[in-house]
Amino acid sequence: MAPSSECSTVTEEIVETIGNSSDVNLKSDTEKKKLKWYQFETRIVPVQFAILLVMHISLFYFLFAFPYRQHPVLVAWAFFMTYVTIMGVTAGIHRFWSHRTYKATLPVRIMLAMFFYASGQMKIRQWSRQHRIHHKYADTDGDPHNAKRGFFFSHIGWLMLEEKKEVDDCRKKISVDDVLADPVVQFFDNNYALMQTLCVAVIPTLIPWYFWGQSLTWAFISQVCIRYPIGIHITASVNSFAHAYGYRTYDRNILPTENYLISLLTIGEGWHNFHHAFPWDYRASEFSAFFFNPTTAFLNILAKLGLIYDLRFASEEHIKKFINEKGDGTAYNDKYRAIDKSW
Ligand SMILES: [Zn+2]
Ligand SMILES: [Zn+2]
Repeated sequence: MAPSSECSTVTEEIVETIGNSSDVNLKSDTEKKKLKWYQFETRIVPVQFAILLVMHISLFYFLFAFPYRQHPVLVAWAFFMTYVTIMGVTAGIHRFWSHRTYKATLPVRIMLAMFFYASGQMKIRQWSRQHRIHHKYADTDGDPHNAKRGFFFSHIGWLMLEEKKEVDDCRKKISVDDVLADPVVQFFDNNYALMQTLCVAVIPTLIPWYFWGQSLTWAFISQVCIRYPIGIHITASVNSFAHAYGYRTYDRNILPTENYLISLLTIGEGWHNFHHAFPWDYRASEFSAFFFNPTTAFLNILAKLGLIYDLRFASEEHIKKFINEKGDGTAYNDKYRAIDKSW
């Protein structure tokens, strides 16, 4: 299913708001320091380290201890909830609030906020700001999860270390006023602890207990101790794997890559070289619903129902121009484009 062509225009003002990795003055001096994977440039924050440690000890313990055979319903429910929350990240916090790639009606914004909050990550305003900094200063010292500081740092290390001064300097230059103006964001973020507890733990635990008579304890463990940290790693895989392994089809001068496996895992966010080249494109990929991109298929359905509108995307000429000028020579075959258009 191809989006309508009148939505493809992108103004300079929008590009400025959502950032683009091309206008960067900062560099990363990490490479020169030759640190080992366990050596860090900044101090470990004890509280954040302890939270992550406890979370992972409990994850590994319950991955082995969980009685999978006795509770197939809870396993299926945890898998389903993992992808509900990932959809909240991909369609919601990422493509909607952080990049403004489309406009959404109130019911969709409430749904996406609930899905995102169930992933147990930051406030909407924090995540959007971090992500806008990431794009504007990608893989420099201003990037909160600068992939040049190593795989572990970009995956999860950045969540337990003190920030570099450069990140904070860059944060001051990034506006999220448009995000703060959304009453849905205000409601969820102003009631962060309550909404987080309800969406991560209470609602996903009570549903299988109430409707399918499942054990309350194992429902809680499957959601909070297993599903929640796995969702964090799925989200983090874009910052680590998709900034390290894969093709650089659209821009060979940046770290982000086209990574099939990460796209499969993250329902469409692994086409990350494209996404950094065209951050305002709602598809986050050259292709629409085709090629491991269920998030785009979901957005296309919402658009057909009139629940979201003004979807932005890059024109084929614009994309091909990029490929010819900056790509690494791995452009997709036109056959794929034809298949994609027929959907
Ligand atoms: Zn990135
Ligand atoms: Zn992005």
